[in-house]
Amino acid sequence: MGAGIDFTCFEADSDVCGFWRYKPDSKFPSVYKAVSEEKRKKETEREREKRRIEEWRKVHIDSDRDMTSFGDCPISPSEPVFLPHTRVYDYLKKNIQECGLAEKIQLNTRVVKVSPLPLQAGQKMCRWRVEYTQNGSEVRHEDFDGVMIAVGRHGGGAYAPKFPGLESFTGTVMHSRWEYMY
Ligand SMILES: Cc1cc2nc3c(=O)[nH]c(=O)nc-3n(C[C@H](O)[C@H](O)[C@H](O)COP(=O)(O)OP(=O)(O)OC[C@H]3O[C@@H](n4cnc5c(N)ncnc54)[C@H](O)[C@@H]3O)c2cc1C
Repeated sequence: MGAGIDFTCFEADSDVCGFWRYKPDSKFPSVYKAVSEEKRKKETEREREKRRIEEWRKVHIDSDRDMTSFGDCPISPSEPVFLPHTRVYDYLKKNIQECGLAEKIQLNTRVVKVSPLPLQAGQKMCRWRVEYTQNGSEVRHEDFDGVMIAVGRHGGGAYAPKFPGLESFTGTVMHSRWEYMY
């Protein structure tokens, strides 16, 4: 934005701030990680939900205040060094509003496909087609000169390929999407 580049941001959620906006229906596996696999298996759905909410309430950043903030908008030194998640949310939200980003973000808009368009005569770099749905609408598209993907790694699925030998492997199979705390 500061460089004068126009852009559109597609956000699947109904509000901004991604991971840092607590949503009762979110399932962040890392927040479950405080107990063993064995104990987790014995939990009822209700116990699991109760624990998840309690654990999420305690989440603080583990990167410090100064490293985590934007260089041109430091977090006030009067804030704790390791902020609770609610303050991270407040900080991000304030930045989005003050920088005029909110109007560039299309909420409830889920990108379903991003693909390069064929090169046209004289073009050195291809343009990109972004296909999306809005509130479950039919698929629409817009074309852009460039695309930046920032879908996070905690809110969506995980690519965990099945490869030969996996079925007989006796160790723990991990993926950063599920096992954040390792
Ligand atoms: C318990 C925990 C603690 C953490 N603590 C720290 C910390 O202390 N410091 C730190 O720097 N990082 C921390 N992280 C990492 C955290 O992931 C990052 O801080 C940050 O949230 C990543 O931002 P992001 O924009 O990449 O992803 P997200 O915040 O996850 O945002 C991704 C966004 O993309 C949207 N989206 C996904 N798919 C689509 C789609 N198809 N179409 C449109 N929109 C889509 C989602 O709705 C979401 O809003 C922590 C993570 C966890 C789980």
